[in-house]
Amino acid sequence: MFELPEYVTLAKQMNKILQGRKIKKGTLGNSPHKFVWYNRKHAEFEKLTRGKTVGESRSKGRWLFIDLKPGYELLFGECGGKMLYHPAGTSLPKKYHLWLAFEDGSSFTAVTQMWGAYELYEKGRACNRKYVKDMRTTPIDEEFTFKYFCGLIDTLLERKSVKGLLTQDQLIPGLGNAIAQDIMFGAGLHPKHMVDALTRDERRKLYRAVTATVRKVISKGGRYDEYDLHGVPGKYVRLMDKNTVGRPCPECGTKIQKIQYLGGACYFCPECQNGRT
Ligand SMILES: [Zn+2]
Repeated sequence: MFELPEYVTLAKQMNKILQGRKIKKGTLGNSPHKFVWYNRKHAEFEKLTRGKTVGESRSKGRWLFIDLKPGYELLFGECGGKMLYHPAGTSLPKKYHLWLAFEDGSSFTAVTQMWGAYELYEKGRACNRKYVKDMRTTPIDEEFTFKYFCGLIDTLLERKSVKGLLTQDQLIPGLGNAIAQDIMFGAGLHPKHMVDALTRDERRKLYRAVTATVRKVISKGGRYDEYDLHGVPGKYVRLMDKNTVGRPCPECGTKIQKIQYLGGACYFCPECQNGRT
C-alpha cells in the first residue's frame, strides 16, 4: 500500500509527465475488483473525462488529487498497487482499474492492490469527501510542529501505544505499517510503549523520527517494494522489515525480532527499542 512518500513521489512525477496531456478516452476497470471504490458508472466516467486535459497533481496524506481541466478532479485514496505512465507504442497491463488514453498515444493506468478509492469529482468537491475533509495535519505540513505533536498526544481520546499513534485512525495521516517500523526504531521506542508514558525527551525523539523518516523516504523516491510512475521501485530500504528479521540490528548487532501486534507485524530491535511496555 502506498504511504505518504509514495504519493508525494507520484504527484511530483505526474506534474512532470502527465500534465498537459489531453484525454482521448477515460475508462474504468476492465477487471472487476470488489474493493475498488468508484463513484461513477463506466459510461459516465468516459463521458466526463473525454477531451479533458491533465492539470496539476498534488497529494495529502494517503490521497492523490489530479486536476482534469476544465472542471474536474480525479481522486485516488488509501490504495496500493501501481499507477503507471505508458509512452506511446508500449503495452498496457492486462488488468487495470482505470485507464486514461491520451491523444498523443501515451496512457496512464492504475491497478489497485487490496483496496482503494478511484473517484471523479467536480473540481473543488473532492476535499469534502469523508476522510479527506477532516484530515489532520500531515508530517510534511508546516503546521506539524513539536508543539502540534504534543497537543495531538495530549488530546488523544483513548490510550494508545506508539504503534497505535503511528498507524491507527490516521492520527498522523499518511503513515502506515511499513514506515512506522523505521520511525519506532529511529525513536528507540518499542511498538507497545504507551504514548501517555513518554517523557518529554522521548516525545521529542519520536517527533524527530517521524519527520526525519518521512523526509528520507521521500528523498529516496519511496520504499523499495513500491513502484513509481515509470514502474521503477523506490530506493528506500527499510531497516526493520520482514527481510531483516533475525539479522543483526544496524546499531547494536542484536537480532531483529518480529511480533504480531495491532493487526500487523512489527519488526524491532529488542535492545535499542527496549522501552516500558
Ligand atoms: Zn539494536
